[in-house]
Amino acid sequence: MVPELRELPNNRWAWVEVDLSAIRHNARVFKDLTHGSTRFCAVVKANGYGHGAAQVARACKSVGADMFAVATVDEGISLRNQGIEEPILILAQPPVTSVDAIVANDLTPAVYDLEFVGRLGQAALGQSKVAQYHLAVDTGMDRIGVPHDEVGEFVVVAERLSGIELGGVFTHFATAEKPADWDFAMQFKRFREAVTTIKSLDIDPGIVHCCNTPATVLHPEAHFDMVRVGIGLYGLHPADITRSKLDLRQAMSVRARVTRVREPAVGEGVGYGMTYRVMRSGIQIATLPLGYADGLSRPLSNRIDVLYEGRRFRQVGNICMDQFMFEVDPALALAQRSRAKPVEVGDEVTVIGTSGKETITVDSIANLLGTINYEIVCAFDNRLPKVFVQ
Ligand SMILES: *Cc1c(COP(=O)(O)O)cnc(C)c1O
Repeated sequence: MVPELRELPNNRWAWVEVDLSAIRHNARVFKDLTHGSTRFCAVVKANGYGHGAAQVARACKSVGADMFAVATVDEGISLRNQGIEEPILILAQPPVTSVDAIVANDLTPAVYDLEFVGRLGQAALGQSKVAQYHLAVDTGMDRIGVPHDEVGEFVVVAERLSGIELGGVFTHFATAEKPADWDFAMQFKRFREAVTTIKSLDIDPGIVHCCNTPATVLHPEAHFDMVRVGIGLYGLHPADITRSKLDLRQAMSVRARVTRVREPAVGEGVGYGMTYRVMRSGIQIATLPLGYADGLSRPLSNRIDVLYEGRRFRQVGNICMDQFMFEVDPALALAQRSRAKPVEVGDEVTVIGTSGKETITVDSIANLLGTINYEIVCAFDNRLPKVFVQ
């Protein structure tokens, strides 16, 4: 981290720091896993998993991304408005009321409903365009898509509609991160059969793709024409199994500046419910201006550390909506490092990320909460300003 390169927000002493060089590094790691001819689709839904979709998209484009994937029409429009000109895939079929906006913004929806394809074609004809769509195939996840054994009938009818063009065929795996998994093998087989069916009808399936991050790493035989990489771009692993295989760099840090330092008397409580009490004299309580409304989940209260100058400090008391407190125990600080600096108002503290030789990972937070790293980074998109490091 080179602090001089950062432009810190004027109005708030708490921010999400996104290291775009880490994103570029991670994207290169994944591109190196695929053949030169395999397209690379960077998945930037949910505002780039909380990292800023347009900035992430531009970083990925600079290292060779061909396409971007989002979850909603509005996410696609937002990327267009920020100057992204590459194809943008919407990973689910949007409501039929959005077809005009889809065509106007040259978005490529996932599709599995014939009425939707028809309406999309009409909208395209109305704007003198041809709308591309990708056919979603349900190979077993039971979420979206044409059932794998009905794909033939679907494409035959869809081919007769005007104003539209089949740009690709894809599916999504439910268990790609499990080694030698029977469900994966079944989904993969059903997908290959669906693609074969389309080709046997003399219909061009367009770009064939099915790999998310774990499948891209663990199943090169499934890369087809394109891979769709999400979580790995952000330097996070979809499961422990990929850890030894990839050198990824966590792109997100969460930092804040101390707004207040006090030395309460022994016995005083801290925060709502006073779930922590000062047990020794000399202990200081420092306040940081971010809370659960910013993504720092309240069940983490009294269970996490923060980092200051490469040292760990215990978070104490219940995390509030907009603030939380941590404990500065001078005895502990002295034991850890003899020339420990006192914590003062304005000092920068790391909530997630690296400070000196210490790191607080997104995964450690996810583990404490019994969830996956995906959910943690998405949650920090809520309110904190973003600071991008090139
Ligand atoms: C979110 C998503 C991806 C990306 O998954 P990661 O595990 O983050 O790589 C790929 N494809 C579809 C359909 C998705 O919904």
